[in-house]
Amino acid sequence: MDKITVTSPLLPNLDEFQELLKEIWDSKWITNNGSFHKKLESALAEYLKVPYISLFTNGTLPLLTALQALRITGEVITTPYSFVATTHSIWWNGCRPVFVDIEESTCGIDPDKIEAAITPKTTAIMPVHCYGKPVNMDAIQAIADKYGLRVIYDAAHAFGVEVNGESVLNRGDMATLSFHATKVYNTLEGGALVVHDEATKKRIDYLKNFGFAGETEVVAPGINSKVDEVRAAYGLLNLKQVDAAIEKRHQVAIKYRNALRDVPGVRFFDDMPGVRHNYSYFPIFINAEEFGQTRDELYFKMKEDGILGRRYFYPLISTFSTYRGLPSAAPENLPVATKIANEVICLPMHHELSDEDITRILSYIVK
Ligand SMILES: *Cc1c(COP(=O)(O)O)cnc(C)c1O
Repeated sequence: MDKITVTSPLLPNLDEFQELLKEIWDSKWITNNGSFHKKLESALAEYLKVPYISLFTNGTLPLLTALQALRITGEVITTPYSFVATTHSIWWNGCRPVFVDIEESTCGIDPDKIEAAITPKTTAIMPVHCYGKPVNMDAIQAIADKYGLRVIYDAAHAFGVEVNGESVLNRGDMATLSFHATKVYNTLEGGALVVHDEATKKRIDYLKNFGFAGETEVVAPGINSKVDEVRAAYGLLNLKQVDAAIEKRHQVAIKYRNALRDVPGVRFFDDMPGVRHNYSYFPIFINAEEFGQTRDELYFKMKEDGILGRRYFYPLISTFSTYRGLPSAAPENLPVATKIANEVICLPMHHELSDEDITRILSYIVK
């Protein structure tokens, strides 16, 4: 039997891409803020309903750059239930990550547990909209305002996600995106940083270009995260079809939910009221006792038969060697994240899953 992978990249039409490549070849302008780069930035700002966006070469560099731009020092509060890049970006900035537990209802940071983690050294909170599910941004902002903290959202999963018509990317001080091949919207590799004003956008653009503010002037110790014209052109084509891909994912989610609704020991997420979801992932959570099989028994049985779900996010970041010595990494401090990491499987979720694929996947879960 064919393999069913957890995701499948959204690819532009090859003929259309070749036409754009021809334009790039003719222009001989292949990087450094070229015309496709400019077009993609404005097209994304419009699509995402954000005022200012800067493209990056992946989703990790905007995290690093956001912390640099805001001159974050000391301790940064985050969760261990994410992709490692979230915590790595804090470490690479010479800051100390402080792990706070997640809520079972969103898999995002639990706002009720943030205040207890704040010390005189705390300067920022870095929450994650895990699976694209919006965290409680009002509660987080209220705490940040009370203690004078910055908020940088790792919104790598939250492309196009809106709450009551407003993009989640417009909240906090800054929000980052990833356009990696495995994400809902990709530019092969890529990412972006969303900011709220023109001066900050300018500063970000200096920082992603070595700190150059002119031919001979360097205003900051910047990095290189300039997106080339080939990827920008690819991104423009993919943007045209991302809504259709999200709708296909939505249909898959509906089929999964209908089939799993009454299966004992299987929990999953429904849509949240007022939220435009992007259906980037379909996590299920296995209660071994009620389901009659552990998460890993199910996961490896499916894997053996070519159904490649993923245990996003297991193991927790707080268990990796760099971080496990931190006091906040103790499992007793992270009971919900520890439990969820042992229950989760992300089922295959992408725009090309067929009804036969879905039936085959579900046959392992619906007895
Ligand atoms: C994918 C991802 C990143 C990193 O993005 P890259 O484009 O792979 O560098 C960061 N945070 C989260 C939560 C992610 O899922």
